[in-house]
Amino acid sequence: MEKPVKELLDCVKRVNACSPFYQKIFKDNGVVAEDVKTMDDFENLPFSEKDDLRKVYPLGLQAVPEEEVVRIHSSSGTTGDPVIIPYTAQDVTDWAIMFARAYSYAGMTNKDRIQITPGYGLWTAGIGFQAGAERLGAMVIPMGPGNTAKQIKMMQDLKSTVLASTSSYALLLAEEINRQGIRDKICLKKGIIGSERWGDKMRARIVKELGIEIYDIYGLTEVYGPGISIDCHLHCGLHYWNDYIYMEIIDPQTLKPVPEGEYGEIVITTFRKEGAPLLRYRTHDISRIIPGRCPCGSPYPRHDRILGRTDDMVKVKAVNIYPGQIEELLKDISGVSSEYNALVTNKDGKDVVYLRFEVEPGASLESLEKQVASRFKSMIGISIIPQAGHIGSLPRSEKKSVRIVDERYE
Ligand code: ZN
Repeated sequence: MEKPVKELLDCVKRVNACSPFYQKIFKDNGVVAEDVKTMDDFENLPFSEKDDLRKVYPLGLQAVPEEEVVRIHSSSGTTGDPVIIPYTAQDVTDWAIMFARAYSYAGMTNKDRIQITPGYGLWTAGIGFQAGAERLGAMVIPMGPGNTAKQIKMMQDLKSTVLASTSSYALLLAEEINRQGIRDKICLKKGIIGSERWGDKMRARIVKELGIEIYDIYGLTEVYGPGISIDCHLHCGLHYWNDYIYMEIIDPQTLKPVPEGEYGEIVITTFRKEGAPLLRYRTHDISRIIPGRCPCGSPYPRHDRILGRTDDMVKVKAVNIYPGQIEELLKDISGVSSEYNALVTNKDGKDVVYLRFEVEPGASLESLEKQVASRFKSMIGISIIPQAGHIGSLPRSEKKSVRIVDERYE
């Protein structure tokens, strides 16, 4: 894929002229904007991080005069100050344009009725879903989260055809609808589901119990909000809007771009954002760019599903391993269940990976161990020691389980 060098260099000029936040980053890092002339120069620019954004709380990111700011959003911080993102009227419009485009990729039209269950308020979920749907001309049912009984009543009475939701809330609704035995009164055809990392099992249950087609939507508050990418009807990656954002994939340890098609961390530069433009913003989300055009014919490039966060990554023999990668690999081998864990340890000065996984009743442990080891070698690039066990042999945990244990530095 050709890189949009001119547009990126224009971004550098623009943030250097308008954004006190980037003026300071450039100054602190000895960057002279006029000297940034090539793609190499661009790829050597400093990154920005959520922590940098937090440090300029409340409005240090603002890059336009006060009278041009029409709204702020905030991304929740578990510690310390939140990040505040100012939006201009054009930013709000641009976000709605992207969101409407995302909906049309999901096959939604102005005849649809969308029930919006993500929250409204400081964060970017509900209002983004709403603005995009209104732009498309669909009927919005702006429920916000919770109150499941009322959600289900409105869903029946107003004959909602599209559900906007998190994966966990979609599952909860699906279970409640089936518990009440009212599936035949529900008109849902599609679910547009926030693309945090969630398993195929959960996906399959929502699809089965609600009988809907599911579209993954991705985004983050720092970069408009949800709606910057979505999968098309072929469900082979999420199309992202490269007229609004530039996506790089970097190795989170070396911070260098990875070859096209390889997994790494998504880094985003905004082409048009006015209120708070971002240059090389580290998302810490792990994915990859899918090379080539999508068979659907769309001109927009694709990234893969989000495999997890950089914090979950381990590096073994110079290869980055993400839990999501192991899940993807195991799910394609028939007879292997979804439970697994990996132990990285050091033996006689060498890194060794033990991969424990469970197999379905009746399957041959030995043959599946061979298949898993060979698949691991070909897909991730290193040799492992496979240890197959029967269902139930691995510990279960209510909490989100730690999938990769790294003993090397203990
Ligand atoms: Zn497509």
